[in-house]
Amino acid sequence: MARLGTADQSSARGGATPADARPRNRALLLQALHADGPQSRADLARLSGLTPTTVSAVTGELIADGLIGEVGRKASAGAGKPATLLAVEPDGRHIIALDLSDDDVIQAAVINLAGKVVERRSQQRNGETGKQATATIVRLARAMARAVHRPLLGIGVATPGIVDDHGVVRTAAHVQWQSEPLATRLTNALHVPAYVANDANAAVLAEHGAAGATTDNVLLVRLGVGVGAGIVIGGELFVGDHFAAGEIGHVVVDDEGVPCKCGRRGCLEAVVSAPLLAQRLHGLDDAERAVHLEHAGRHLGIALATLVGALDLTEIVLSGPTDLLDDRLRAAALETTRRRTLPNVGEHLVIRFSSLGDDGVLLGAAALVLRNELGIV
Ligand SMILES: [Zn+2]
Repeated sequence: MARLGTADQSSARGGATPADARPRNRALLLQALHADGPQSRADLARLSGLTPTTVSAVTGELIADGLIGEVGRKASAGAGKPATLLAVEPDGRHIIALDLSDDDVIQAAVINLAGKVVERRSQQRNGETGKQATATIVRLARAMARAVHRPLLGIGVATPGIVDDHGVVRTAAHVQWQSEPLATRLTNALHVPAYVANDANAAVLAEHGAAGATTDNVLLVRLGVGVGAGIVIGGELFVGDHFAAGEIGHVVVDDEGVPCKCGRRGCLEAVVSAPLLAQRLHGLDDAERAVHLEHAGRHLGIALATLVGALDLTEIVLSGPTDLLDDRLRAAALETTRRRTLPNVGEHLVIRFSSLGDDGVLLGAAALVLRNELGIV
């Protein structure tokens, strides 16, 4: 993930040559328009710190590229001609996003620059693994590309497992990948940039970029096939030394707990992963459901308390199948985390559900492309 946030890195270097400044200036203006909505050229100069001459040149280029457009005039307080407003052109580029986080079904979408899903498709994986799974994914990406009627910005993929900063899936148990160069395979097949990330990491980027996030430090816990966390610190994704930060699924939270597929007992994943929790809740009445949801929430809270204690977080987001994200699970997790952390940390803690619903991972896959290609975060 080292390539994320490249615009900031070039600005920190200082003394940028014109060749370095060009993508950085484009990213600055695109980000300002993305975050703050339509602006005049004068507003953009103020927001970005660029000179009016540079803003004029760069916005001219972005208009010619179809990335931004003129959307009307600013209401004028005084005399004189009202300024023209510029905005990101939502359909100036399209992105193909793939979500591999479900055990059986691959979700695919075409997403525009405003984060709107404009086309959607899904494909059964039929238990395929290894090269077969890769071939199915490449085929699905090709089919999606044929449905794109705008210039294609790139492909973003979110998958369970450990993914390095070159888009190589080092391990992904559910499809039995080992060192699978998925980004390279997609780029070779479709001739556009491709980015691959862990599903919780992708989802936390989408969550941080969405209106709901109130701080630059966000932890997202994804209850999927496994259980993983995505961590944004200071607005940047934190992936750790081996791209495995947030792999909390096999932290033991219950010494007497149920056996886990890793051979131990009471791993977080054995208690709260989506398929196992769904299985346990199946056919229960509401009172019985409450018992299981609170049990799962308490054990999730045990794992979260350590993370909150280490990172001093105030916001944790829960992501997963919406039918499993019950408020009783959330409330039990919050209560347990608070009880196990220092009062001045725990009392400010908020645990909330993702504002992006079932599309959080797809939007996260698109966010990978937006960040890396346009500097939009
Ligand atoms: Zn385990």
